[in-house]
Amino acid sequence: MRYISTRGQAPVLSFEQAMLTGLASDGGLYVPETIPTLSADEIAGLAGKSYEEAAFIVMRPFIGDTFTDAEFKEIIAKAYDGFKHDARAPLVQLGPNHFLLELFHGPTLAFKDFAMQLIGQLFQAALSRSGKRVTIVGATSGDTGSAAIEAFKGLSNVDVFILFPHGRVSDVQRRQMTTPPEANVHALAVEGDFDDCQAALKEMFADIEFRDHVKLAAVNSINWARVLAQVVYYFTSAVSLGAPHRAVSFTVPTGNFGDIFAGYIAKRMGLPIKDLVIATNQNDILHRTMVTGAYTKEGVTPSISPSMDIQVSSNFERALFDVYDREGAAIAQLMTELKSGEFKISQGAMDRLRDTFTSGRASEDETSATISAMHARTGEVLCPHTAVAVKVAGDHLSDVPMVSLATAHPAKFPAAVEAACGIHPALPAHMADLFERDERFTVVANDLDGLKSLIKERLA
Ligand SMILES: *Cc1c(COP(=O)(O)O)cnc(C)c1O
Repeated sequence: MRYISTRGQAPVLSFEQAMLTGLASDGGLYVPETIPTLSADEIAGLAGKSYEEAAFIVMRPFIGDTFTDAEFKEIIAKAYDGFKHDARAPLVQLGPNHFLLELFHGPTLAFKDFAMQLIGQLFQAALSRSGKRVTIVGATSGDTGSAAIEAFKGLSNVDVFILFPHGRVSDVQRRQMTTPPEANVHALAVEGDFDDCQAALKEMFADIEFRDHVKLAAVNSINWARVLAQVVYYFTSAVSLGAPHRAVSFTVPTGNFGDIFAGYIAKRMGLPIKDLVIATNQNDILHRTMVTGAYTKEGVTPSISPSMDIQVSSNFERALFDVYDREGAAIAQLMTELKSGEFKISQGAMDRLRDTFTSGRASEDETSATISAMHARTGEVLCPHTAVAVKVAGDHLSDVPMVSLATAHPAKFPAAVEAACGIHPALPAHMADLFERDERFTVVANDLDGLKSLIKERLA
């Protein structure tokens, strides 16, 4: 299995190399050269299997010879061992033909643990074999950072630096990043927004000298291994609801397009998915793109679902690559146009995007009203991101089962949840003392050179 860049100018890599590299040297994102498929029988065979067994079957074809079967099974077992629910990704029902996929039972209470815990174990296994060291730099709108820190803290071959927008993450999110005491963890509060953090990260990767000097690796949702980890729960949930004999639809609260892109991969692998619904908050670049065909940057307006407050959605490039017939030059051209704020998608490419994806948007008021209504009607307390999905899913219900992805535990966003439904969601027991732990972080200017020097100093 070989991996190629969406911009066509970077070296072709193995799974291991693509995973350790993250962003491609031409600014593109790595994708598999071909998408393996599972037959209907193989998909049917997932029924009744544990999450870990299903994960092995779904992901194995993408790994190539990076790990033996036994090694890969052990990696998967360790990755999901810290989850607090035996099903890992349980389904609950919200209404007739509407289901909630709970993805918040990992160590940091958000779906990003599914990918990050796996990637921590993949890195650990690959680096301890080669004796190499890497520096992970990640940009986060809140949940990726804590998930990365939980996955990498204390590992001997890795330093982890997380850039988060100062003052724009919730107290729980910040504390999850700033309280781990391990010396290899560096939480950096950038005076800017998430897009500034993500732009700084991209610039660091584009600076070959810096990249090689610190042995930079990325674990943002641009890392292929993260997308891959997320493919699994589309399979397990769809099979629980009758796939491959019955099609299933999904609504995904979307920011960087990583999670929903994993659903797209599941579909390409042969899972019968009818609709993949992109649900955005008021920062709705993707919804506007689906409606108008123009991808137009606008400023970010902070919302009660902060992990979706972005204006540039990195993984969307992977979808564009496919609908532009995998022509790297066309994608490179679009991304150059985006530097001045906008690109227009060709009619043919839009038609193909609309064949797979549909979209909707939830305003702040609709999000709060959904939290309150769902609590009243089902007893479920939703986090604001999940509520965005549930609202949009409500506009797409049909005779096909709809699964809304619950991407975070409500206790990560207590203020918004309490304002919406009057309930103060409690942190689970393993995190109950979060607000008593000591914090440790550095506030840094939104300045690329300053950030690079700080990272070099900390590593010296
Ligand atoms: C990251 C995140 C999202 C958005 O996921 P993408 O893969 O970036 O689209 C949604 N909800 C929560 C809680 C998140 O942490």
